[in-house]
Amino acid sequence: MRWISSPRRVRKPVSSNIPALKLKVGREKSLLRRHPWVFSGAVAEIVGSPVNGATVRVVSASGEFLGWAAFSKYSQISARLWSWQESDVVGNAFFRKRLSAAIAARDIPGLKDDSNALRLVHGESDGLPGLVVDCYAEFLVVQSLSSGIEYWKESLADLLLELTGAVGIYERSDADVRRLEGLEEHSGILRGQAPVGPLQINENLLKYWVDIQTGHKTGFYLDQRDNRARVRSLASGREVLDCFCYTGGFSINALEGGATSVTAVDSSAEALQVARENLALNGIAGENYSQIQGDVFQVLRSLRDGRRSFDMLILDPPKFAPTAAQAQQAARGYKDINLLAFKLLRPGGLLVTFSCSGGVDAALFQKIVAGAALDAGVTAAIIEQLHQAPDHPIGLNFPEGAYLKGLICQVEPG
Ligand code: SAH
Repeated sequence: MRWISSPRRVRKPVSSNIPALKLKVGREKSLLRRHPWVFSGAVAEIVGSPVNGATVRVVSASGEFLGWAAFSKYSQISARLWSWQESDVVGNAFFRKRLSAAIAARDIPGLKDDSNALRLVHGESDGLPGLVVDCYAEFLVVQSLSSGIEYWKESLADLLLELTGAVGIYERSDADVRRLEGLEEHSGILRGQAPVGPLQINENLLKYWVDIQTGHKTGFYLDQRDNRARVRSLASGREVLDCFCYTGGFSINALEGGATSVTAVDSSAEALQVARENLALNGIAGENYSQIQGDVFQVLRSLRDGRRSFDMLILDPPKFAPTAAQAQQAARGYKDINLLAFKLLRPGGLLVTFSCSGGVDAALFQKIVAGAALDAGVTAAIIEQLHQAPDHPIGLNFPEGAYLKGLICQVEPG
């Protein structure tokens, strides 16, 4: 696949008759710091009749230009900024430049050496609010999560095809956040062809089956790439419990890293089936591997009641709190599983624990895990803080982009 194209010239601005969002007095502050969202409460007036997703001129209460944005008619986020430059024209040339920059930014040493699956566009943090593009070998998977991306989707698909030379682009806009934008969930072929059945990808010299049409999110949890490798380097000689294992990413890495056994838990029979296939794909015999299909909350309790213990325990649950509003309820869930995990760890054992909830920040997550250790009666220390992989960047103007946080805690050796 080609990764970079030569940038083209940007046309001169046209500003007449473009609808505008006029903000309330003082509500331009976050935009001046280049935060890309305009909340509905900040809007004083909509000038003109922009359709959903159309480009609007955002101006301050005194009429000063602040930026070009995509209008979201139905969302609490009324607009998402495309640009803070008045001379920019939001259109094909603009998007070609943004997409090329995002693709070029993935030229980080080490990222593509041993992996052919990575995130090419990470929404706001790549200057393309609401757009996710993941590359799986010769195919791209696109998620359109905002009205602005939906408005420009066909142009974006053409540009992506041109810039990457992908064999096919598949759309997985079946995320429930689309409802907040007044958009229906949708999946299907956007360009070219869909793969026949699951794809095989490489990640850090291991292989996985990925079904981009039916798998979770866009098919695979690419954000955990570096953390899976970290588990591989720490697993030697350990009995491992991999909770929320999905298609076996952490389990396979633990076994490759010399774990003496891996027990994998997930509620999904399909995910567990693929996990077994992934073991076979990597030539791992599986005599030290077992699976439990069930609810992790219950499985952890019954393992505790059965007085089982482990040397490494991985907790990678789904998003318990998509927004801060659900943080309290999510905190109870995280506390519960982390407390049980600490009870199941032997002295010197490692807890590798994650939260991908946007509504729970790193400080709160650390506090929850600390509370869990305390209530479990365990002394433990953080030996590493983990994050999403570098192809999931966090715009400095968009702290919300830091959604995945992880801790490796070591229980005091006995
Ligand atoms: N660690 C995985 C990704 C985990 S995604 C990787 O690196 O690929 C979260 C997984 O949790 C999904 O497979 C989902 O089926 C599973 N899941 C969600 N709720 C669950 C529950 N209550 N008990 C067990 N599994 C659950």
